[in-house]
Amino acid sequence: MKKSTSLAMAMGWVFSISVAGSAYAQTVEIGTWAGFRTAAVSFTFDDGPQSDIDVALPMFEKYGYKATFNIVTKWADGNNDGLINWSGVQKLAAAGHEIASHSDSHPQNGAMPSSEISTSKGTINKKISQPYGCVTLAYPNCNTPGDAQVLQNYVVGRICNASWSGGSDIMGKNGPSNWAAVPAMMTGNEGTSDFKGNMQKAVNQGGWVAFLTHGFQGKTNGWASYSPTDSLAMDGALKYAKENDSKIWVAPMGYVAMYIKERNASKATASTSGNSITVKLTHSIADDISKYDYPLSLRVQNSGNWTAASGTQGGKSITATIKDGYIYFDAVPNGGDIVISSGGSSTPTSSSATQPTSSSASQPQPGSSASTVTSAASITVEMEDYMQGGEGVGYSDINGESDNTGYRTDDAGVVAVGTGHGIGYTMAGEWFNYSVEAACEGEYSVVARAATGNASTTRFSVSVDNVAGSVAVDVPSTGDWNTYTEVEGTGTLKLSKGKNVVKVSIDQSYVNVDWIKLTSGNAQCPSNVTPQSSASNGTVNSASSNPQNPGANNTPGGEAPEAIYMSGDVHWNAYSGNVYCQVFDMKGQLLKSVSVPASQSTSTLWNAAGAGLSKGVYIMRYGNKDVMRSVRVRK
Ligand SMILES: [Zn+2]
Repeated sequence: MKKSTSLAMAMGWVFSISVAGSAYAQTVEIGTWAGFRTAAVSFTFDDGPQSDIDVALPMFEKYGYKATFNIVTKWADGNNDGLINWSGVQKLAAAGHEIASHSDSHPQNGAMPSSEISTSKGTINKKISQPYGCVTLAYPNCNTPGDAQVLQNYVVGRICNASWSGGSDIMGKNGPSNWAAVPAMMTGNEGTSDFKGNMQKAVNQGGWVAFLTHGFQGKTNGWASYSPTDSLAMDGALKYAKENDSKIWVAPMGYVAMYIKERNASKATASTSGNSITVKLTHSIADDISKYDYPLSLRVQNSGNWTAASGTQGGKSITATIKDGYIYFDAVPNGGDIVISSGGSSTPTSSSATQPTSSSASQPQPGSSASTVTSAASITVEMEDYMQGGEGVGYSDINGESDNTGYRTDDAGVVAVGTGHGIGYTMAGEWFNYSVEAACEGEYSVVARAATGNASTTRFSVSVDNVAGSVAVDVPSTGDWNTYTEVEGTGTLKLSKGKNVVKVSIDQSYVNVDWIKLTSGNAQCPSNVTPQSSASNGTVNSASSNPQNPGANNTPGGEAPEAIYMSGDVHWNAYSGNVYCQVFDMKGQLLKSVSVPASQSTSTLWNAAGAGLSKGVYIMRYGNKDVMRSVRVRK
């Protein structure tokens, strides 16, 4: 490893000499809206009713959207029937929503006292932890307490509008004419089509529309009982936005406001040199309200026809996506240099081509069967086979949705993938645990088969035993959630020999995963080099000869066949009914599936599994389909 690094550095040095002076400037564009979408839509909620938690929170989680919740600080201080208190407010913040001010005292009529402009903000900033602080104020009764003072304290002051007709409350791409009077359309009896109509107008105009909601019809709204909204109508609106995700950006009011201000104030320059593009993104907005460090969406032309790209800003990894002749990425203004490099996760072929022979000599090759041997250490983990144990053990599920395939009783999002299964309806923050038995210790690369209909690249991560450091898998948009592609993760996972708990964590909502394949880079993996049974690899003879006893293979002491321990420490003979074994080839294709009654010896199962297989290496999954290993069939 050291050798190839120093070689690459040496090559880089030579290379930079040869191209010195050829660095050139290129155009970098900032998206009008995040993700280069066409329009922005904000949902805001006033007064802090219980229905914020009961209705709005799960509804927004379902679509992966964030909203703005405007809180009356004195109401959150008390135990007010039907209203949420600070722990409820923090729950909303923890889910990524914007927490904003709606005054301290919320007078019944008229404007809030001007003294509460700063005190309500101070209280929220003290009570609530959120990434951008309290930057939005929504006026009680829609009356401004004084525009100038509001704008000294907030990015946005929000008024309200009762009229849904005419679309005059849809803002342009630069927001309102007065940032202390940002309009929002008050919701109530409107149907989904009313929301859709206004969102469509925003798309047509390339602008921004905001909605304002108190409680929901038939729900616990406390003092926010004014103009209750039909939750199904709003759910339909969010569904429509998601279906039009390539055009509609749904984000909290304060965040959209920051985006506009940063976009209009930022200067972006890009310079290409060899296989990297350096982008500088800066602005000089300076006030005490915000750092204006909400990420902006940028793109540069893919003039080098790169097939993959990766990026960093200030040394931290950022996602770069190639699409339609551009390289897209999000970055924070004044957050340090952004460096986008060609290649990304895949190893450049030139690197292996220039590997010095001494390097290969230092890594003993397993001989003529090298390719088979290397791939023999691949483990395909089917995503629907997360560990037993339910919520908090096998998985953590936020939205409770699935295809209802009946494959799992504790269904945390199993979806149909062709005739098989995978996981879907995934939300950022969810995770799944898998029990993975590795043939040998070492670093494993990760390839995944995944899909996302999101417009932009969607990330999940794979880690082992909760150890820090994980492999990020960036899934490019595949157009929809039924179109799967194979993607390689960045970096490697260290697996121990034997059992590992592999965790798949959803970093960005709405990615479907069929399986992940972990492949050992260790060509010396003993069980693969020698076609012998070992402590962790089963050996299956074809049916014509005596079947090996896998119990004995697993346990050098040679216990009874029944002594195979299933993953999750479920004893073999704890199974009632049938025990299954699926046989896959090294590409992960299912070749056959057999089962025998649990009362029979394991050799009966191996006998059936091995029958008819030609000489070679296979992956077998058995027990309750939660143990996998590579096996070699010898004639
Ligand atoms: Zn109010």
